[in-house]
Amino acid sequence: SNSLVWFRRDLRAFDHAALHRALTTSNCVYCVFVYDRDILDPLPRDDRRVRFIHASIASLDAELRRLGAYLIVRQGRPLDVIPALAAELEADAVLVGSDYEPDAVERDARMNARLEADGRKFFSLKDQVIFEKEEVLTLAKGPFSVFTPYKNAWLKRLAAMPETLASYPVDQYADAFAPPPGPPALPSLEELGFEPGEPPLPAGMEGAEELFERFVGHIADYGRARDFPSENCTSRLSTHLRFGTTSIRHLVRTAQQMVVTGAGGPGASVWLSELIWRDFYSMILARNPHVVTRSFKPAFDALAWESGEEADALFAAWCEGRTGYPLVDAAMAQLNQTGFMHNRLRMVTASFLTKDLGIDWRRGERYFALKLNDYELASNNGGWQWAASTGCDAQPWFRIFNPVSQSLRFDGQGEFIREWVPALERLGAKEIHAPWLVGDAVLAEKGVVLGRDYPLPVVEHDQARKKTLERFSVVKKAV
Ligand code: FAD
Repeated sequence: SNSLVWFRRDLRAFDHAALHRALTTSNCVYCVFVYDRDILDPLPRDDRRVRFIHASIASLDAELRRLGAYLIVRQGRPLDVIPALAAELEADAVLVGSDYEPDAVERDARMNARLEADGRKFFSLKDQVIFEKEEVLTLAKGPFSVFTPYKNAWLKRLAAMPETLASYPVDQYADAFAPPPGPPALPSLEELGFEPGEPPLPAGMEGAEELFERFVGHIADYGRARDFPSENCTSRLSTHLRFGTTSIRHLVRTAQQMVVTGAGGPGASVWLSELIWRDFYSMILARNPHVVTRSFKPAFDALAWESGEEADALFAAWCEGRTGYPLVDAAMAQLNQTGFMHNRLRMVTASFLTKDLGIDWRRGERYFALKLNDYELASNNGGWQWAASTGCDAQPWFRIFNPVSQSLRFDGQGEFIREWVPALERLGAKEIHAPWLVGDAVLAEKGVVLGRDYPLPVVEHDQARKKTLERFSVVKKAV
């Protein structure tokens, strides 16, 4: 029998649930990736994620060819392309890794119906998380909405079911792959309608492994260093996890071994915890699809966010890194120029937008979605609702980040700010966090005139804080 593995967010050829199942249950396995025009067409022509996917597709095809197989690459709407290709290849089944985003769930339901009508099977297999939404439950068999008890139950379940982390091997079953009909013929970025360019980080399976090996070398220090953006000590694997160029089982297995043997020092268990956050938000989204457009807690839908011209101007200043708060502006510059933002700064900038500017978290969430290389609906939405205090297990709404204190605490010497805000390059550690508090004469000596070289603050934090407390008082009454 023939089968077709449709690659989506699992662009690798090792430890792969759908490939493993196809190779062990059918005689002839084809592989396909579809550039979905509905997703690609609205994107900017120099989109960094398309470059990452494009490079990762080349790496996947090369690896499949090493195994005696190849990747069919098509463009179009998957709902048209996949059933037609399955018919052409006489495939009895189409296999995929499960995707839990509401749009993907709907598309897969339609795909299932379409294929079934043609007499073919559609198998959707767990691959991108360790535990799905029904697998980690409270004692009363309900869902968790607070992270720490979820994490404890997650760890307990893993201890009881260590086989969850077992790899889904591919290479030893490679005989069942359909052989390539000829040399590679992958579309170039230009043929896809995009400008040529390098991916924003090492792409493909080998890119992921390179980053992971480098990270494991200093994982012991992660618990301390992870909050300091200038130390650049985090793994940078988020984009790889997003596109499945690495396997979550492989990462968790390695982290867990490093916890058990002690080889990962205190950092390994902190990092494992971050990977559990990813499962947590995936579960929250899968169980509560309303969070895409509304607050996790309905009472928070009553919040009246700022709107109108003034709010639009403040939103533009935030997007472009012109708020006059150096750490916020440095973080937005990093995002705009590279597509990455450090986790601490995602919290600081999201808090600034919602609590200092009073702007709806959904606008910030959409902006991040456009810009982040690692954009993922579940984690992005979870992170934004956490910062806006509208989410599950969110920070309490009356605890409001002070952007200057955050700057002093997490970029004490101002190294990160200097890297991303060249106008402030010559300011010392005492001046750089709040330049408006430094005398004009001192600033002028360093070549900075506020309002000319660098903006004055767009809001005053203490006033903004009071306004936010008032804004949230409607919720206080409601909950
Ligand atoms: P590391 O520190 O090395 O962490 C390892 C992995 O754990 C990450 O790659 C990621 O998969 C996972 N992880 C870490 N922190 C979190 C978290 N808080 N929630 C969920 N998973 C986590 N992460 C995304 O992958 N995509 C997003 O779109 C996204 N948007 C965010 C928006 C906001 C407002 C906030 C506060 C956080 C967001 N995060 C998002 C989570 C986190 O900031 C990134 O995963 C992390 O910065 C990626 O860098 P890294 O791979 O070096 O992380």
